[in-house]
Amino acid sequence: ARPTNAQIALIILCILVCGTGYGLVLKGTQSLLHSNTRETAARWAHDLMADPDRTKRLMEGGRIDSDDILHYTIMASAGRTFKVRVLDARGRAYLEVARGDAPKVGSLYQADSNLLEPLRSGEVLAFFGDGTDKPNRPPHYAAAYVPQFENGELARIVEVYLDVTDIVAKHRTLLAQVAAVFAVLILLEVIHAMFTGRLLRRQAESNQKIADLAERDVLTGAINRGHFISMVQACLDASRAKNDAVALHFIDIDRFKAVNDALGHETGDLLLREVATRLSRCAGPDDVLARLGGDEFAILQTGVRSLDDAEQRGNEILAQLRAITAVGSTPVSVTASIGTATSTATNHPGVLQRLSEVALFKAKQTGRNQQIIFSPGMEEDVNQQNKLRLQIKHAVANEEFEVHYQPLHTAKSSAVTSFEALLRLPNNKGGYISPAIFIPVAEDMGLTPEIGAWVLHKACMAASAWPQSISVSVNLSPQQFRTNVGEAVSSALAASGLAPHRLELEITENLFIENPEDVERQLHAIKALGVSVVMDDFGTGYSSLQHLWKFPFDKLKVDRSCFQSLGVSNGVPETLKAIRAMSKAMRLRVTAEGIETEMQRDFARAAGYDELQGFLYSRPLPFAETLSYITGTAPTGEASGLAAQPPAEDDNVNKAA
Ligand code: C2E
Ligand code: CA
Ligand code: CA
Repeated sequence: ARPTNAQIALIILCILVCGTGYGLVLKGTQSLLHSNTRETAARWAHDLMADPDRTKRLMEGGRIDSDDILHYTIMASAGRTFKVRVLDARGRAYLEVARGDAPKVGSLYQADSNLLEPLRSGEVLAFFGDGTDKPNRPPHYAAAYVPQFENGELARIVEVYLDVTDIVAKHRTLLAQVAAVFAVLILLEVIHAMFTGRLLRRQAESNQKIADLAERDVLTGAINRGHFISMVQACLDASRAKNDAVALHFIDIDRFKAVNDALGHETGDLLLREVATRLSRCAGPDDVLARLGGDEFAILQTGVRSLDDAEQRGNEILAQLRAITAVGSTPVSVTASIGTATSTATNHPGVLQRLSEVALFKAKQTGRNQQIIFSPGMEEDVNQQNKLRLQIKHAVANEEFEVHYQPLHTAKSSAVTSFEALLRLPNNKGGYISPAIFIPVAEDMGLTPEIGAWVLHKACMAASAWPQSISVSVNLSPQQFRTNVGEAVSSALAASGLAPHRLELEITENLFIENPEDVERQLHAIKALGVSVVMDDFGTGYSSLQHLWKFPFDKLKVDRSCFQSLGVSNGVPETLKAIRAMSKAMRLRVTAEGIETEMQRDFARAAGYDELQGFLYSRPLPFAETLSYITGTAPTGEASGLAAQPPAEDDNVNKAA
């Protein structure tokens, strides 16, 4: 802690007081000398004038007798005097009396002519001397020249030597005492300064901590959301003055929630710290790194001259995060979605943030692990998405979803073997929003486990109302496997009383992308319940045989796009036949999906497919219509499936989105 001005002033004052004290001591000694010597000189003058004969005799170099010796010895020993000389008006000494010595007379020495001038004008001259090394001198003495006048003329000069050793010693003691008092005062002041300095420092530290708490995120040390907005404002102002732009990169860790759930919150926190460290490497000295909450971060890039600058920074961020391979000893892989907006679009911090959010939304929606830079037109999209999100939330809370059922027929006899449960979200125009649109959004919202469990429940209840020979198949989404899906299945079976062999679960290949070991474990658990597992959408995506081998599926569903390519693309019939042959070899039943025409149906039958599903037979039906559909198709066989075309209420599924 630096001393305050008051403390410096106090120390200076102490030094001044000590200096002044020393001056005063000197002055005191001097004034004592003056009064002592004047007194002595006056006595000598009185004596010399009172005894002019003796004076005259001595001045003329006369002999000194025992009376003189006694007389002068007494006079020279008065008070502090230890030596006296008498000089004539021209400065020649003719008498010297020193203590303990016989008086000397005669022309003894000539005083310095410089001294005579001031003495003639009546001044008393005084000097101090150090007699430590000199014989016959006390350690501290003073010498004074006192002029004496007769009839206005300088008659003689009395040179008086005083022993001031005791005075100096006394004054020195006094000075030492004063100095000691001031030293103690200064010491106290220094201690006080150190103490208050430490207090001030502590206070400053705690003030800083409080300021940090208000401005920074505790976990990562990044700027917090509240402070960020004000910093954005300041950066926008600065960039306007400099005539460049800023870019706000809104960064969201992909599927962070899953990592957090799988690895635990402690590891999740470590990961967030690591992310913050990496991101700080992507922020220049004038840039701002903020944690906006959860797994959301932002970097405000300053000095942006072109969109390329912003894009390059986005790439750096993605690369830094991809380089995270482990948290502690836990291996992880991190990707992020970045939405970037630049101040060329707006100068309002709130708007800038919203535009970056829009771009982020787009980045997440179109596959994640990428940077999207905001462009006008994105907003409308996002508004739609937000509306849909609200609708989904509302539907989950109020059970507004419906499940429709599309029949699957045996290829040979056209009897209904099962129904596929397909989820429906009513729109407010009397139609439905396609699950192809709302399921990915629900997945993004993390709601598919909850919705999926509800579908399972509904489907099992429905199937328990159908004849024993008819099963139900339910689509599962990958997110459901991040929870205990087996539990949801067994609870649906238990609640409905449905026999497990009447339930089929359809999964797609992309389920194996993330955490394949855990997925396999869960699939085995499901199979152990007696439920069938179906590989759905085969023929799209990877169609990897490896996935087929990995797990003992019960059935393969060839995607509708394959049959719809019949007669459109070359080689399709051969491929469809090959898939059938392969399935047979693997003892898998095969379903042909999306059968819309008789040609497609006939081809599937001829190729040896086991089951057929498609609009040619029926669109997905509300539960109430499934019962009449079953009775309508059951007794007379073949043609009745076609006769019982249900009302085309599902026509509006896709266009209503
Ligand atoms: P998917 O599993 O491939 O389901 C079959 C889709 O094909 C259904 O569309 C169905 O209406 C449609 N379809 C059936 N026959 C024909 C046909 O002859 N021609 C044409 N063009 N289409 C036909 P939908 O109901 O719109 O469902 C779309 C996707 O949404 C489903 O594809 C499935 O992946 C997903 N989905 C539906 N319900 C659920 C559900 O409850 N949970 C999960 N996770 N996904 C679901
Ligand atoms: Ca399906
Ligand atoms: Ca399909």
